[in-house]
Amino acid sequence: QADTAMYRAKENGRSGFHFYRNEMQQYATDRLKMEKALHHALERNELRLVYQPQVNSKGELIGLEALVRWFSPELGMIPPNRFIPIAEETGLIVPLGEWVLTEACQQLRAWQQVTGLPETFKCLAINISPYQFSREDFVDQVLKVFEQTQVDPSYIDLEITENMLVENIKSVAAKMQRLRQHGVHFSIDDFGTGYSSLRYLKYLPLSQLKIDQSFVRDISDDPNSYEIIHTIISMAKHMKLSVIAEGVETLFEKEVLTSIGCTRYQGYHFSKPLEKQALNLQLLQSSHFPLEEAHTASLEY
Ligand code: C2E
Ligand code: MG
Ligand code: MG
Ligand code: MG
Repeated sequence: QADTAMYRAKENGRSGFHFYRNEMQQYATDRLKMEKALHHALERNELRLVYQPQVNSKGELIGLEALVRWFSPELGMIPPNRFIPIAEETGLIVPLGEWVLTEACQQLRAWQQVTGLPETFKCLAINISPYQFSREDFVDQVLKVFEQTQVDPSYIDLEITENMLVENIKSVAAKMQRLRQHGVHFSIDDFGTGYSSLRYLKYLPLSQLKIDQSFVRDISDDPNSYEIIHTIISMAKHMKLSVIAEGVETLFEKEVLTSIGCTRYQGYHFSKPLEKQALNLQLLQSSHFPLEEAHTASLEY
């Protein structure tokens, strides 16, 4: 009997393995397809940036975050959470990251020169991925783009994540300091979800912490999230850093955040990410957020 049981277990194990392998194969095929398509995406001009407004308590525009979108003719619209990890693993993130930087800087320059940006506007935020940042030539790459696009680096806010700070803190700090000397700002994205050491944060030339949207989401019904946000805000005050809340979806969330001392916000309540054309229009009229429903319905992403 023991033999039969063992036999069954093996059999189940094996079919379980087959099942797993089929799933894996499917996954691998999808990935390979995407990887191939991503290789061409840059040359074929399939990437686009959208820009999400960041606002102060009055709803005035203080910044914009550039967010990449991939429109693949074969695969449709693919969100960054699906292709950025592949770009990271294959090294494609290097040319992709350079494209994002260049496109964002060119657009900033165009806004500054053509439509004009409001006086309250401080920075254009650009996401930097870990592999991109870890490269020896990262700083040179960024400075080259600034030079090519003639953008004033003090209008640029590079978003890095906590996990990038754990590895070689000395080299991380050195890179940041070089760019900081040119005026570049640094924010920590998704703050509170990673593994950074508070001790290290003190030694980095940071401007801002971005409170992760998972805390904002739970702010009303999870006392822990409320406390975490409270703690981040008071810590930031001590360290003389700005704080911005991400993923603010409702007026209620905004008001709770304001009551704990948060004065900068980003989220669907104010505006979804917008195509540059939509933003142009907005900038030429007023730049007060949230916008009126009817006005934005067809413009956002
Ligand atoms: P992130 O940098 O934390 O960006 C915020 C994400 O939250 C964006 O998703 C944005 O569209 C979304 N979001 C903003 N407000 C709200 C809200 O009120 N509610 C909800 N539910 N979501 C909101 P997106 O554009 O899909 O980007 C996802 C992530 O992909 C980004 O997270 C960032 O880590 C990465 N990413 C996007 N663009 C780039 C890029 O150009 N380069 C790199 N390296 N990463 C990028
Ligand atoms: Mg970001
Ligand atoms: Mg974030
Ligand atoms: Mg993120």
